[in-house]
Amino acid sequence: MGFQATLFQFFLPPQCPCCEEFLEERQQGFCPKCLSEVHWIDPPFCSICGIPFTSKEVGNHPCGACMTHCKYFTMARALGTYEGSLQKAIHHWKYEGRKSLTPFFAEWMAEGVKRYWAPGSLDLLIPVPLHPQRLRERGFNQALLLVKTLSRRTGIPYRRAILKKKKPTVPQVNLSGAEREKELRGAFHMTATKEWVGKSILLVDDVYTTGATVNECSKMLSRGGAKRVDVLTLAHALRTS
Ligand SMILES: [Zn+2]
Ligand SMILES: [Zn+2]
Repeated sequence: MGFQATLFQFFLPPQCPCCEEFLEERQQGFCPKCLSEVHWIDPPFCSICGIPFTSKEVGNHPCGACMTHCKYFTMARALGTYEGSLQKAIHHWKYEGRKSLTPFFAEWMAEGVKRYWAPGSLDLLIPVPLHPQRLRERGFNQALLLVKTLSRRTGIPYRRAILKKKKPTVPQVNLSGAEREKELRGAFHMTATKEWVGKSILLVDDVYTTGATVNECSKMLSRGGAKRVDVLTLAHALRTS
């Protein structure tokens, strides 16, 4: 982008990350229309992975996938489903560098922390790590951006370097459950600081897709001595099958 274009953009009001409409003065984040189209997750949902159930006649209970597959985290919660305006906004934020959305998203996540966890029950926030190669491509780790702002809002400390990604993994959407697990085995390692021992940890990421990544991270942390591991994401992808 040339200097003039940058300058021009500087004087333009911010745009909605979903529909590109210009926002009115003092509006932040989404325009009212796109905000009204976000599918917020309300009960009933899976008591373990947090996926919403379509039937409203049941209470929260474990879904089929969580009954048959061991989850190393106690509960995963998300704010909205990964579709429509929220999906678009996350995409702009992550791949087009709309970093102005970070405080907006972190505010939602702070609400999520308040809604799902009792005050004082979380000791440490940890971002799901990104492989250094991906980090170079993208320039930032979206989970770390969220964690930093969330930590400021909630007063819960964060550690960025406890988990590190050792090998780049292929996008999980194209893999079966068993393939995903195999792909992720040994993908992370932990630092020697042992700061997680005896702590209640909240793992933070932008999207819960299959849960394989957060499950692998949770496995390492709980086997390494964490008291409990929970997960919070902005969005939960709905299963297509
Ligand atoms: Zn909009
Ligand atoms: Zn579940």
